Amino acid sequence: MTEVTFADLGLGPNVLKAVEEAGYTSPTPIQTEAIPHILAGGDVTGIAQTGTGKTAAFVLPMIHRLARGRARARMPRCLILCPTRELAAQVAENFEKYGKHLKLTMALLIGGVSFKEQEGLLQRGVDVLIATPGRLMDQFERGKLLLMGVDYLIIDEADRMLDMGFIPDIEKIVSKIPAKRQTLLFSATFPTDIQRLAKTFQRDPVKVEVARPTDAAKTITQHVVHIPTNDAKAKRTALRRVIESREVKNGIVFCNRKVEVDIVAASLQKHGHDAAAIHGDLPQAFRTQVLQRFRDGDLKLLVASDVAARGLDIPDVGHVFNYSPPPKDEDYVHRIGRTGRAGRTGESFTVVSPSDEKSWGFVLKMIQQDVEDYMPEGLLEELGDLPPDESRSRGRSRSGGRDDKSRGGRSRSRRRDENTDRLEESAPAAKTEEKPKAKAEPKPEPKSDTKSDDRPDEKPKRERAAKPKRERDRKRKDDDLVLDPAPEKVKGFGNDIPAFLKR
Ligand code: AMP
Repeated sequence: MTEVTFADLGLGPNVLKAVEEAGYTSPTPIQTEAIPHILAGGDVTGIAQTGTGKTAAFVLPMIHRLARGRARARMPRCLILCPTRELAAQVAENFEKYGKHLKLTMALLIGGVSFKEQEGLLQRGVDVLIATPGRLMDQFERGKLLLMGVDYLIIDEADRMLDMGFIPDIEKIVSKIPAKRQTLLFSATFPTDIQRLAKTFQRDPVKVEVARPTDAAKTITQHVVHIPTNDAKAKRTALRRVIESREVKNGIVFCNRKVEVDIVAASLQKHGHDAAAIHGDLPQAFRTQVLQRFRDGDLKLLVASDVAARGLDIPDVGHVFNYSPPPKDEDYVHRIGRTGRAGRTGESFTVVSPSDEKSWGFVLKMIQQDVEDYMPEGLLEELGDLPPDESRSRGRSRSGGRDDKSRGGRSRSRRRDENTDRLEESAPAAKTEEKPKAKAEPKPEPKSDTKSDDRPDEKPKRERAAKPKRERDRKRKDDDLVLDPAPEKVKGFGNDIPAFLKR
């Protein structure tokens, strides 16, 4: 059987030229399946995660379709909703990259990007508007844009939108868009809430599914390091010994909470490792710099929270280290999926203390495969020298003590997950863990590079307090990943740091 080419999918010559210049020789499975349906005007529900080529799967045919027709003032023709600023910026980069031979206009409505510039673009009329839901609602409510000209609606990472509490906003937004439209919905997972959205928002969608999230990539060798103590210092020691026992070119260390990210990064640094932290509480300029260093190979270990790392396309990571199993079991697959990309091999290591056994049990049940036990030489003895911990006597169990009766089924685990997420969103100073002796990074400068009207969090306290809680929460979520002001044109993509992020 001959291999499918981009030309076979029905894309126009200008798009094909850009694809060729991007160096892609053949479409990925999600592209092969989704592009013809989208070009034919049909709705598509794409179940695919970052790394599968799903962004190009909707951007390429969208560019092709948008090439015909003209933008009208304040009425974008295509609306793309993304859960985070970074993801929105990446989608914008894709439009720039694949649309460079066509004259399409684009605006971005995300926290941290000056609305004044974007307002000018919107006024003149844009083909594509890329936005986070909270920011879009703000501007819509202020009467700055009209949604009745939207012919194409794309909802990216719908499951993450759900996790971040954006669904009510999305429902409101969709109610303002004409029913006669093409709707594409992409999600890494397909829980019932997203199925419901697909049903209400889409018309006879074609479901395209690639690499279910539970299919941990075959190119990744997974390991688990069971330690007999809950002591935080012991856990950090275990993490270090694991890292030191492997030949690590570069790796991402995932932590469940922002405060842990800081502490673990500080600890690694203190012990001579080249590590830096990224999470939502750090200023954008600082995160941009850290990310750039990591992409450039100037930083070996990136210590990150799930939210900060979500959706970022960081190719060629050799190792993933989980300081703990993630509170949301499906995040495990997202985390380890950072390595072993594009056919390369990768290794993952998850440190599991007795109090993590339950979460680890959830992960094992989800991935339905065995994970190799790993113990760096001398670690157990070294941990034996650390102060005793009462939990040590609890021992460990491979099943993670997972008892469906005692945990009350999936819904209870969801509640637990949501609580943990909320903790991560607004993690205060460490309560249970000891404070690091050394700081992870020089104290970053406070955010000062955008005007206060772009940054709800910078409004006077009294004004903020007067806002309804839901609205404040929404802005907070939008602001979790902050971008600096964007220029009218966006350049750079893929392994290069987006131009947005550089500024
Ligand atoms: P995504 O799943 O959209 O996050 O894309 C992941 C990465 O795959 C990006 O760096 C894209 O540049 C790259 N990519 C997208 N389509 C292709 C393709 N057909 N061939 C090779 N790489 C691709």
